[in-house]
Amino acid sequence: MRIAILSRNAKLYSTRRLIEAAKANGHEVDVLDPLRCYMDINAREPLVHMKGDILPYYDAIIPRIGASITFFGTAVLRQFEMIGTYPLNESVAISRSRDKLRSLQLLSRKGIGLPVTGFASQPHDIPDLIDMVGGAPLVIKLLEGTQGIGVVLAETRQAAESVIEAFMGLKSHIMVQEFIKEAGGADIRCLVIGDKVIAAMKRQARAGEFRSNLHRGGSAQLVKLTPAERSTAVKAAKTMGLNVAGVDILRSKHGPLVMEVNSSPGLEGIEVATEKDVAGQIIKFIENNAKAHRTRTKGK
Ligand code: ADP
Ligand code: GLU
Repeated sequence: MRIAILSRNAKLYSTRRLIEAAKANGHEVDVLDPLRCYMDINAREPLVHMKGDILPYYDAIIPRIGASITFFGTAVLRQFEMIGTYPLNESVAISRSRDKLRSLQLLSRKGIGLPVTGFASQPHDIPDLIDMVGGAPLVIKLLEGTQGIGVVLAETRQAAESVIEAFMGLKSHIMVQEFIKEAGGADIRCLVIGDKVIAAMKRQARAGEFRSNLHRGGSAQLVKLTPAERSTAVKAAKTMGLNVAGVDILRSKHGPLVMEVNSSPGLEGIEVATEKDVAGQIIKFIENNAKAHRTRTKGK
């Protein structure tokens, strides 16, 4: 097959591993910088150009679109979908997963366990918002945040009120969430491919920190998942319409709660922690599923 990887940098660990795995399985592979692609949108034949040339037809495309370029990156991916290239994850599913609030709404509709979450825009509603999630301590999240930046633990009601008020004053969109204390500063990253969790790790926050992101100094360990955790992770990925996803789960008294579903999960942490060939399994999934004009959503 001829496979394209949509990535800004061929030297990044995840991109490198995907190139290796594609080549090892006998595929031709090109890395395309989404920001260098430009689109010929016309009524006859959709095309993608790069550096003065029309790009060839690819059988499959692996999107690795960073959060900061979601808008342009998904537009490029959509153009490939219109041409008939099989996308590992579809553009619509990626846009959906980048909107934390929309994601939680879709997951809640399917009855998937979530931390109780509130969203409001008026300072007037802050006291009720805090009550809704069970009072302090609580977690406040900037909708635009990634890698744990913009996630705040407010220990007291007073702290919560003033932080929420400050964010609202800055016109930032935030959500307020019950604090899952019993998770003990740990979360579980489940790597879902198709209808299976193929690798999982527990990430533990460093001492004095509640955020377990590896970028915030968290450490990864092997973990054995319960059947409920497995099925929750698979159902969450399916609900978002993602074939490949990193589903982050908190272990609570009431069972697994989904915090976030990531459409471009990093491969380094999970491959190193589990010694699994995640990149190879992604290529296998493409081999088994790629067909031309197979996009479900057609960008709608
Ligand atoms: P980001 O998308 O920026 O990584 P997350 O929502 O995943 O933000 O939060 C970052 C980390 O903070 C999580 O990995 C988890 O360890 C911790 N965390 C987030 N929400 C909660 C919560 N409601 N209760 C307890 N811990 C939380
Ligand atoms: N195309 C719609 C969207 O992206 C489908 C909505 C849904 O999945 O509920 O939101």
